[in-house]
Amino acid sequence: MAPKYHPTPLSGGDRKALTKEIAKSRAMTGILAERSEEKRRVGEALIREADNLACQSWNEKMWSDGGPAQPSPTIGQAINGGFPWLEVKCSRCRTSSSVDLAAINRPADTPVHLLEGRLNCRKCKKAK
Ligand SMILES: [Zn+2]
Repeated sequence: MAPKYHPTPLSGGDRKALTKEIAKSRAMTGILAERSEEKRRVGEALIREADNLACQSWNEKMWSDGGPAQPSPTIGQAINGGFPWLEVKCSRCRTSSSVDLAAINRPADTPVHLLEGRLNCRKCKKAK
């Protein structure tokens, strides 16, 4: 991209003012980009915290009442919130096991409850 052309003002005072404004604008570029980065970091930390709380809430609901599982955090939220493992009971033989959510071949926006019933233990998978 060609650098932007600012027509040179005729008066000396206007030229000086334009030079000052351009320098100010260039300085603002860095300052604004830095602020954007900072806000993004803070925002991502807040999202991570929100994801963590959503998972904790769901875990408490599942522990205290056993459900309803719906609505549930998504796979992406669980991983981002620091809960990369899902404890499941095989829908066939009721054996408990832990599933690595990162290893599941599903989109990150899949709610965790949709995995219910599709996760069988190795023994039952073979028996199919
Ligand atoms: Zn099983």
